[in-house]
Amino acid sequence: MIVSSNSNAVNRSLGELTSRADLKAEATARALGHGLEGMSREQAMADRVVRHAMKLYDRIGTHLAEAGKVLVPHDVAFDGKHAEIRIEQDPQYDKTTHEAPSGVKAPCLACKLYFTGQGYLEGVQAGPMWLSAVALSTQIEATTGAPAKIDELTDVQIAAIAKRIAAQYAVMAAHHVAVGSSLMKSGKTTLLHDADSDSELDDDKFAAISKQMLARTKADRVGAASAPKRLKRTVIPEPDSDEELDPFA
Ligand SMILES: [Zn+2]
Repeated sequence: MIVSSNSNAVNRSLGELTSRADLKAEATARALGHGLEGMSREQAMADRVVRHAMKLYDRIGTHLAEAGKVLVPHDVAFDGKHAEIRIEQDPQYDKTTHEAPSGVKAPCLACKLYFTGQGYLEGVQAGPMWLSAVALSTQIEATTGAPAKIDELTDVQIAAIAKRIAAQYAVMAAHHVAVGSSLMKSGKTTLLHDADSDSELDDDKFAAISKQMLARTKADRVGAASAPKRLKRTVIPEPDSDEELDPFA
């Protein structure tokens, strides 16, 4: 399994997570750090971080074997490049054995257009079209051959990028992709960052996983020799909005 963020620095930190046990320990630390202890199921599911951490904890076993390895993409020149693109372009990614990259939200429109151009036609949702250099990294790089800020592009390059996007869009539009990055309980899609989620843990699962998470930290506290490691070097920022952090804008 390959996991990634949009940032070289964060990915270097994620590189410390190498196994399913590490991912579960990190999910546990995140959920507890966001106040899981004492939360009702409804409160936990309303907290975006706790919800995702518990869903990860619950589902990781179906996607990654216990002995399976966790890999992180190498640094990229276009820092800020979106996670799913980093995964697909990394030499560790093998299209024949890995599934198409996916995330907690549907890919942004520029990533979806890139994937469409690469022949990945799975998925019927796309997020917003960010007019930022990092969101458009693939379309820019395919034209310029290197990272570039939007205001560094020449008119000729901009025309070539627009033409590329239009061609990708024509293919995507034929596959009825809806724009709306997250699926909500109502079945509708939304571009809101902190909307509810289409899937939640039920009472039994919530109780079982909270219990496991609390027992796990207890074991860590008494210094179990086999306690899985947690990220130490870098505190991974949790963005509180969807605004792009764009060093190339
Ligand atoms: Zn994207």
